[in-house]
Amino acid sequence: MTLLVQKFGGTSVGSVERIKAVARRIAANKNMGKELVIVVSAMGHTTDELTGLAQAISSNPPQREMDMLLATGEQVSIALLSIALNELGVQARSMTGSQVGIVTESSHGRARILEVRTERIKALVEEGQVVVVAGFQGTSLSSGGTAEITTLGRGGSDTSAVALATALNAEACEIYTDVPGVLTTDPRKVQEAQLMSTLSCDEMLELASLGAAVLHPRAVELARNYGVTLKVKSSWTDEPGTTLTSKSKRSQNRIGLELGRPVDGLELVDKQAVLGLSHIPDKPGVAADLFEKLSNQGVNVDLIIQATHEGNSNDITFTVDESELENARKICENVLQKIGGDLVSQSEMTKLSISGAGIMGRPGIAATLFDTLSRKGINLRLIATSEVKVSCVINSSLGAKGLRAVSEAFELDENQVKINPEVQGLGEPEVRGVALDQAQAQVSVRGVPDKPGTAAALCSALAEAGISLDGIVQSERQQKDGSRDISFTLKKNDRQQAGNALSPLLAKWPGSQIKDGPAITRVSAVGAGMPATPGTAARMFRSLANAKINIAMIATSEIRTSCVVAKADGLAALQAVHNCFELGAKEE
Ligand code: ASP
Ligand code: MG
Repeated sequence: MTLLVQKFGGTSVGSVERIKAVARRIAANKNMGKELVIVVSAMGHTTDELTGLAQAISSNPPQREMDMLLATGEQVSIALLSIALNELGVQARSMTGSQVGIVTESSHGRARILEVRTERIKALVEEGQVVVVAGFQGTSLSSGGTAEITTLGRGGSDTSAVALATALNAEACEIYTDVPGVLTTDPRKVQEAQLMSTLSCDEMLELASLGAAVLHPRAVELARNYGVTLKVKSSWTDEPGTTLTSKSKRSQNRIGLELGRPVDGLELVDKQAVLGLSHIPDKPGVAADLFEKLSNQGVNVDLIIQATHEGNSNDITFTVDESELENARKICENVLQKIGGDLVSQSEMTKLSISGAGIMGRPGIAATLFDTLSRKGINLRLIATSEVKVSCVINSSLGAKGLRAVSEAFELDENQVKINPEVQGLGEPEVRGVALDQAQAQVSVRGVPDKPGTAAALCSALAEAGISLDGIVQSERQQKDGSRDISFTLKKNDRQQAGNALSPLLAKWPGSQIKDGPAITRVSAVGAGMPATPGTAARMFRSLANAKINIAMIATSEIRTSCVVAKADGLAALQAVHNCFELGAKEE
């Protein structure tokens, strides 16, 4: 028999009528012979309402009491759904997180799941019962040995469902919600957005805000790490929805479920060359022209980063295979003859990358990577970050040393380390979806020392304050004193705290200062086929140039290309990019 875990969100159980409809759906599946474990959220806006009640009493209620309060929301919906199922003649039993044995960390309000005990559920399922489990909650065994109610953080019942599917070895985990699945972009911004029938968990994570609007990212992380088939479907129709896939079925230790290794891959690619163009005009079409010419000549570009400096000129740095360096140099020289600017290039470079779903939201990971390399005296020529990957370009002569140090730092075994792996993503679409991230701020730190440890120090200071960076860009140009600029984007809400976190460092670097960029937004194109398809970035840049949109910053990673543009251009940029990769629904 096949066991399925099905999760129904707050809207799907928002009223008595809807609870009855969900019960009918579950009954139909049960009658088809499926073994079912159901996870539900609190009805409608219950969690917000409960939070409001607490806030009406205190602006700073104890976290323990908040968990006690919020966990009641799910307790209502599991009971009502079980009553509805029993009314339909389906044997059902509701269970809280504690009763099931969803064991979590003791941190209230954002606990991660350590273990799911399955004996009790399995026994009930074998009796033929449908087990209805409260999402979003668990139990911690606090230091004194007493069980406390914990919650996983807002949106956490998706994570409860995937954790149960993992522990029960379920055939699949189906998330029923009020949207038909995962769309190619936000349909409120781009009307033509259409449903994706499948995508990988990595792509979903790289789509950042777009993916997170549909699924709790921690649920996607679990599905990726444990190879759970995850489906997102509409609660109101029988359409197949979207299936999320995970490349490798890992049999990780299921104790410490959500703690698993945040980094599970290390890659070294040698024979790389870096080309750096500086002092080029900051206007629409420059990047498009350059990368179109490269792609027309068959040069496959890997990483690209661009930042604006001193307000009016750009630096663009990119990497290619060493064998393509001469060709790429000629093309760059031609372009520079027309627009002006300087070119430097360097061969015998190596790209070192770490990957893992746990990089997202854990700023200490990138900091650890940079710190590990700097301790070995390795300078970072280029840095590229994304949700699931961080890459650095370093001198090839230091590649082996770097590899050893990093694999030790992240406790990786031989199977997780790959040297010159084959290009991934053949046959996959170059762009599967496009996301717009609006609440971003662009910051540059001017005049930082150009020596090992600078990026590490910056990232560590921010990581200690819990701040994640995105698209860290080291400038190509050097100031007269040999110092450089580092630019990055971060969440707007973190901007002030970032300033505080960095000030002790800046005090140590004479002449350095923080500069804020203009209001920005980030457009990211994501596709597993990107590494195997030349010219993707050029097409994206061209679509922006055609829409007369200037690109302030470019940051690419393996399966993602992001452009930072002025806030006012965000919507048009999203539409242009979505359109250029023909992601919209075709006209009938
Ligand atoms: N009820 C919780 C919330 O609103 C958990 C969930 O719905 O996933 O955040
Ligand atoms: Mg939700």
